[in-house]
Amino acid sequence: MSHDEQCIFCKIINGEIPAYKVYEDEHVLAFLDISQVTKGHTLVIPKKHHQDIYALPSEVAGAVFAAVPKVANALKAAYEPIGMNVLNNNGEAAGQTVFHYHLHILPRYGKGDGFG
Ligand code: 5GP
Ligand code: ZN
Repeated sequence: MSHDEQCIFCKIINGEIPAYKVYEDEHVLAFLDISQVTKGHTLVIPKKHHQDIYALPSEVAGAVFAAVPKVANALKAAYEPIGMNVLNNNGEAAGQTVFHYHLHILPRYGKGDGFG
């Protein structure tokens, strides 16, 4: 499926729901998470709808991961964190709540920055 009308991230891609964009190219969009676990918490998503890592074609995974260093460097410059996590949840049991594949990028600021 390339687009899911019920999907909140597809709506962000279409511009139906606003988001603060951090990075965009032909295949990938990165935008600030609405619920900032740490300052600069960003989601990186493919523009086509794939529900999770099991459904993600390798070439789409390649495009998403190719964008990650660019997003990470933009966040590093903007927020000056001292570390960064890159995470991906697949399935409800793993904490996935939006079923459009995404990576979380979490800038880290030291102990007590809101993320274990
Ligand atoms: P998950 O739990 O599926 O790994 O992560 C989904 C993420 O999407 C959550 O961190 C949540 O805050 C974020 N999110 C959900 N709805 C929206 C939205 O409408 N806009 C933005 N920017 N982020 C959203
Ligand atoms: Zn979607």
